[in-house]
Amino acid sequence: MKSKTYLIRLDDACPTMNRVKWSNIETILDRYNIKPMVGIVASNEDFKLKFTDEDPGFWIKARNWQAKGWSLALHGYEHLYHTNSGGVNPMHNRSEFAGLSLEEQESKIENGIAILNNNGLFPKYFFAPSHTFDENTIKALKSKSNIRIISDTIAFKPYYQDGITFIPQQFGSFRKIKISGVWTFCLHPNNMTNNNIYQFEKFINQNTDLFSSFDEVDIQNISSLLFVDKLLRYFYFRLREIKLLLNLGK
Ligand SMILES: [Zn+2]
Repeated sequence: MKSKTYLIRLDDACPTMNRVKWSNIETILDRYNIKPMVGIVASNEDFKLKFTDEDPGFWIKARNWQAKGWSLALHGYEHLYHTNSGGVNPMHNRSEFAGLSLEEQESKIENGIAILNNNGLFPKYFFAPSHTFDENTIKALKSKSNIRIISDTIAFKPYYQDGITFIPQQFGSFRKIKISGVWTFCLHPNNMTNNNIYQFEKFINQNTDLFSSFDEVDIQNISSLLFVDKLLRYFYFRLREIKLLLNLGK
C-alpha cells in the first residue's frame, strides 16, 4: 500500500440517475483501469436524484460494475431525510438515519440490503445520505447486514471502532494532497458539468499512480482513531477549510 493513496467514491447511483454523465465517468475510469466505489440508493424516493425515467437496465449495469471489481456500497434506503440530526459525523443537519430508533434503522438497512441482494448485488460498504449516521446505524448494520466497513468520517487513514472499519472521506472534489494518508474523493456524477468531467480525466491522467481501489486498502492491521486524526477532525469541523491545513506549501 502506498503511503499516499487516492480513492474515488461515486455517490447516488439509482435507476433514475443521469445515465450519460455516469457513462462518461465510467469510460474514463475504464481507460485508466481505476475501480471506484459506487454508492447505490436501494429504493430511491429523492426527487433530486430523478434525472430520467427509470432505466430498466440499471440493475444489469450495477451487476456489471460488481463483476469488473468496482466496490459497491449501500447508500441509504430511500435517500429521504427524516431528522435534523447530524449524528456522529455532522457534515449536515439532516439524516435518513441519525436520530431514528434502532428498530427504524434496522428496517431500512434490512430492506435496502434485500433489494440489492435480490438484484444480485452484495455490497461490502455503507455510507449514508449526507454522510450522517449514528450509533444505532452501526448496530443496525451489524444486526441486519454483513457490512462492516463505512466510507465516511474525517481522519488521515482507515481506523477501527465499535466493530466497524472506517475508511475516511475527506474531499468533495479532486485536489493534490501533499501529505500521506488514504484520501477519498466523493464525487456526484449526476451533477458534474462537461468541464467537471474534463477536469476529472485531467487529474486522473496526471495522478494515475496514486489511485487505488477500496478493496485494495489494507484494513487488516489498523488501529483505533489516533490523536492526530482527532485533531484533524477537530479542525475540520471548526474550520470546514481543510485545504488550508493540507495544501500548505502548494
Ligand atoms: Zn447521496
